[in-house]
Amino acid sequence: MPLGFHPDLGRLPGDAVGGSAAAGRPDESLHYGLGPKAVRVSLFTHDLIVVGAGPAGTAAAIAATRHGSKRVIIVDKAPPGRDKVCGDAIGPEGAAELVGLGLPGLLRAQERARSFRLTSPAGVSASGSPPVAGYVVARVEFDARLLQAAIAVGVEFEQLRVRSLHHEGGGTRVGEKLTAPVVIGADGANSVVRRAVGQPANTGKHLAVAVRGYAPTPAGTDELFIGWDSQPGGGLCYVWAFPLASGVTNIGYGCASTAAGGGRARLVRRLAELLPDFDVAGTELAGHRLPLSTWRPVPAVGNVLLTGDAASLINPTTGEGISYALASGALAGRAAATCTDTAGAVYMAELKARFGGHHKRMARIYPLLDIPIAVEAAVRACARDRVVFERILELGLGAGRLRRRHLLRFAAAAVLPQRVSAPRAEHD
Ligand SMILES: Cc1cc2nc3c(=O)[nH]c(=O)nc-3n(C[C@H](O)[C@H](O)[C@H](O)COP(=O)(O)OP(=O)(O)OC[C@H]3O[C@@H](n4cnc5c(N)ncnc54)[C@H](O)[C@@H]3O)c2cc1C
Repeated sequence: MPLGFHPDLGRLPGDAVGGSAAAGRPDESLHYGLGPKAVRVSLFTHDLIVVGAGPAGTAAAIAATRHGSKRVIIVDKAPPGRDKVCGDAIGPEGAAELVGLGLPGLLRAQERARSFRLTSPAGVSASGSPPVAGYVVARVEFDARLLQAAIAVGVEFEQLRVRSLHHEGGGTRVGEKLTAPVVIGADGANSVVRRAVGQPANTGKHLAVAVRGYAPTPAGTDELFIGWDSQPGGGLCYVWAFPLASGVTNIGYGCASTAAGGGRARLVRRLAELLPDFDVAGTELAGHRLPLSTWRPVPAVGNVLLTGDAASLINPTTGEGISYALASGALAGRAAATCTDTAGAVYMAELKARFGGHHKRMARIYPLLDIPIAVEAAVRACARDRVVFERILELGLGAGRLRRRHLLRFAAAAVLPQRVSAPRAEHD
């Protein structure tokens, strides 16, 4: 039930209207009048504070506003237009989330990814069109568009590095002056909000590390490429090359942190070895962590909700995290707006309903990627059977699932002696 905070009644004396809130002491809500017509007046500066202006945070703020929250603020340590180390690929599920947020025009036709190629460590290759379009957009551009869309629906933005949270007056204070009954932590892999609510960070095989940069796209390259790379001591790594419409390609290499022996130098060396057509030596590379969904913190503590990377929602097989960030942000924002008092509990239940089964499936599949023969079999099955290829893409790019009939096709294509078909690019 919305609590019906009135945007003006709820402001403390001296609060700025339409901008950041002015200093003030938070307090419990005050009730005026008697019976069902009583007006509840909030003395919080905001209905919702979102920490982090990435896909999770902007989706949360937009969803909350669309579901009735009047005073929503996003705070981020960086000014608008910050870059994010990422592969820049947005899968079909991510595109669908944007439509659900009322942003169907955010991705552009020229940013569509038409063809996908997977290779195994032994060089088996499978390619084809994804069943539904994916996109590649530089994150600096994508995140700026999302923040712009949030501001356009009335969300406030303030540059603020959050260092801790303070429980005050039945809500939470962020920084010196911002207070709200609900706070959404969308502050990424190194989340301060997650730490503030006592939740540990991912480690070991539940954490991946990756480097990426932008290199000129060699002539004739237009497909998205992911190459699985096995490690001498076991552990999955992968290289990618995702061409952008602008004529550069996002190239990168990532590993589970347990398989990343040799550190950054080894990641860069394998990137150069596996992508000989790209000028890796001349490319500026940056690295970042990926908290994989095989281990996740409790997604809400009281009315502090964790979303996106702060909730460790990255797909362990591909490193895809944007669609989960958008989806979890949207769920958290809606819960904050429509069930303010119980937002944390409602969000946890909805997140579980949406992704609980998917996370269990991914946790079962993930260890198989440490077994080279299983990776070979998977890519061989993709090369031989388009349905398997599409299901594997769906699993890697969103919340897809392998049903029993797909597993049977997978097993048949992987192990039965068959003629290996040429990589397919067409789709019926
Ligand atoms: C190398 C690499 C490649 C990847 N490739 C892909 C890919 O191709 N496709 C895909 O879907 N996913 C990919 N991912 C994962 C994807 O980048 C993340 O899942 C996604 O960015 C998560 O979004 P988010 O909003 O949760 O966090 P982020 O995008 O990280 O946003 C967090 C925001 O919080 C802000 N912030 C952090 N700390 C504070 C603080 N203390 N106070 C205030 N603000 C703070 C940051 O400035 C930032 O704006 C990749 C990740 C890496 C590292």
